[in-house]
Amino acid sequence: MTARLIDGKTASAALKQSVATAVAALKSKHGLVPGLATILVGEDPASEVYVASKQKTAHELGMTSTQHNLPAETTQAELLALVAKLNADKAVNGILVQMPLPKHLNAYEVQVATAVLKDVDGLHPESAGRLVTGGEGLVPCTPLGAMMMIKANVPDLAGKNAVVIGRSNLVGKPIASLLLNANCTVTIAHSKTKDLPAVCRTADILVVAAGQREMVRGDWVKPGATVIDVGIHRIPIEGGKTRIRGDVNFDEASQVAGAITPVPGGVGLMTVACLMVNTLKACCLQHGITDIEIPTTLPKA
Ligand code: NDP
Repeated sequence: MTARLIDGKTASAALKQSVATAVAALKSKHGLVPGLATILVGEDPASEVYVASKQKTAHELGMTSTQHNLPAETTQAELLALVAKLNADKAVNGILVQMPLPKHLNAYEVQVATAVLKDVDGLHPESAGRLVTGGEGLVPCTPLGAMMMIKANVPDLAGKNAVVIGRSNLVGKPIASLLLNANCTVTIAHSKTKDLPAVCRTADILVVAAGQREMVRGDWVKPGATVIDVGIHRIPIEGGKTRIRGDVNFDEASQVAGAITPVPGGVGLMTVACLMVNTLKACCLQHGITDIEIPTTLPKA
């Protein structure tokens, strides 16, 4: 391997430390403690693990958090009623509805019903609009974390060619907006893109969020490029264990890239840390507080 490893463990630990410092300052200066409310519908084991880790991290950083477990047969009306209750609750600054929801529920309606300034997942259409138009708002956690990693590893982003594979509202579109807002020249590739390897070879920064295991090969990567692998794939192996891989063939790409995120241990670890950033930011936005430093960057690599 010749590429520098962009280590999510170190980065997320540093970010969480900055959030904890800011949470303490918010409490001492303004007497406020950010509150996160998580909603889990049904009993999907992976979702239960994710929500538990969000709750635990919020507590560790000095925030309050409450978990709402709803049965799998919850109706849309019942879910929306809970969201409305949390929207009105002053102790709740961030509302996170764990995805995916059971199939009979409409996730978009839930996102639209969430108060914009409590939308710590950044998925409300107004949050997306604020990001595109350069306004102050809440940005989806995974792209936010990926962007912090890019900023820490690429000193001058202006004019760099960035290629994003994937155009989901959750990852591809927001990371493309963040890169554009940082003055990169951005190409968004997707399943209909022609000659994807050639498009990728133009990238100084290659962000891969395609949901295709180890799709990006070594010869797709421009020598020296920064490669950010958002993909997460759990592959069952012997003994009931799982191996985790990304959307990039790490062994090949790490021979060519200048810097690369591993999977596991890369972008995924930043997602929960950025949820904490968003909960802190949501609290400050709701109270019009501007003298608390919301972490936006990581220490330089
Ligand atoms: P989606 O399935 O919503 O979007 C995938 C995107 O990739 C689509 O835009 C699709 O194109 C494009 N795509 C699919 N196949 C190809 C292909 N062969 N060539 C080019 N483009 C392709 O996925 P998400 O954005 O939600 O997630 C992407 C990955 O990131 C997944 O592996 C997911 O598990 C992971 N993830 C990780 C997170 C983390 O915390 N690290 C958080 C969220 C997601 P089209 O639009 O044309 O269909």
